[in-house]
Amino acid sequence: MAITNEHVLDAISGVIDPNLNTDYVSADAVKDISIQGVDVSLTIELGYPAKSLHDEIARKVRNAVATIGGVGNIIIQVTTNIIAHAFQTGPRAVKGIKNIIAISSGKGGVGKSTATANLALALASEGARVGVLDADIYGPSQPTIMGVSELPVSSDGKRVDPIEQYGLQIMSIGFMMDDVQPLAWRAPMVTQALMQLLEQTAWKGLDYLLIDMPPGTGDVQLTLSQKVPLTGAVVVTTPQEIAVLDARKGLMMFQKMHVDVLGIIENMSAWVCPCCGEITHIFGQDGGKRMSEAYGVPSLGQIPINAVMCAQTDGGVPAVAADPEGLMARIFRDIAHRLTGLIAQKPKDRTGIFPPIKVVSS
Ligand code: ADP
Repeated sequence: MAITNEHVLDAISGVIDPNLNTDYVSADAVKDISIQGVDVSLTIELGYPAKSLHDEIARKVRNAVATIGGVGNIIIQVTTNIIAHAFQTGPRAVKGIKNIIAISSGKGGVGKSTATANLALALASEGARVGVLDADIYGPSQPTIMGVSELPVSSDGKRVDPIEQYGLQIMSIGFMMDDVQPLAWRAPMVTQALMQLLEQTAWKGLDYLLIDMPPGTGDVQLTLSQKVPLTGAVVVTTPQEIAVLDARKGLMMFQKMHVDVLGIIENMSAWVCPCCGEITHIFGQDGGKRMSEAYGVPSLGQIPINAVMCAQTDGGVPAVAADPEGLMARIFRDIAHRLTGLIAQKPKDRTGIFPPIKVVSS
């Protein structure tokens, strides 16, 4: 009996992608099936960056195809194709950026900037082109975390070039102000400055831009979630009840603005004793997880307290850059996969396809 495309698709339909929570046939990821006699080749095209998973995915798909009776050589290629996804109605897409993700928190000090930096590095290590916009007007810390000391310049005299560091494109409101300025700025000035920074940076072909948002849910955050074309938002919290209460406000703000909340990251979720491995929940247990269950928003992961990461972050070399194969890098890669796996399932951005319709009354 000759092998057909249906046989191949049928065999693969049982292989579930861990980050899409569906099989590759339903995800429309099976491309270029070629059958030459008994030999089969095909490509699995992922919509999210996952270089470290490609071999494992190829192995699983190959094993599934091998169950077809009489099959000969099997060649499976795994690739990634990241597209621009839909965002809330209102704003227009920003040139040079496919997807913008707001990384937010209800209050300061929960590790939002640390998570942003390491998540960006994890995405880049998995093959994506990633930028970071530090919009935390009240404490712009990305230059410190990323070990950047130079100021950006403009090569065309019109837009500002982002600073390139650790393979990322970085821009910070901190580059534009001295230490005392932000306290004197009113909300409209802040949002105007941040929108300018977003739109007048010469981003070069980004798959994802992560925005390190100012903490809280005031006017600035509200206006940004209305004006920035957001593929989605991520809320970072620590497990304490008091932090979770503030994080909840952030979640509700995005929902009110029709911004998709992609998930919750629980930082400083536990302390693991380096000597005996005992786990202590210093700030309470599973606060972020409980919140994700209560609001039907995915939990993207839990990050333990890590003294080394704290020193690395404060010293200008984020954990994922300092030790790309270490535990923290693996945790951030898992979070990056889950986050972008969710984004990959969102509808395509179609705003670039149709020109805006103008209704002219005669
Ligand atoms: P935010 O952006 O929410 O204000 P930061 O990312 O600046 O918070 O983090 C505040 C401090 O906590 C920094 O000194 C950072 O190094 C440290 N920190 C963040 N996450 C962790 C963690 N998981 N383990 C240890 N220290 C952490």
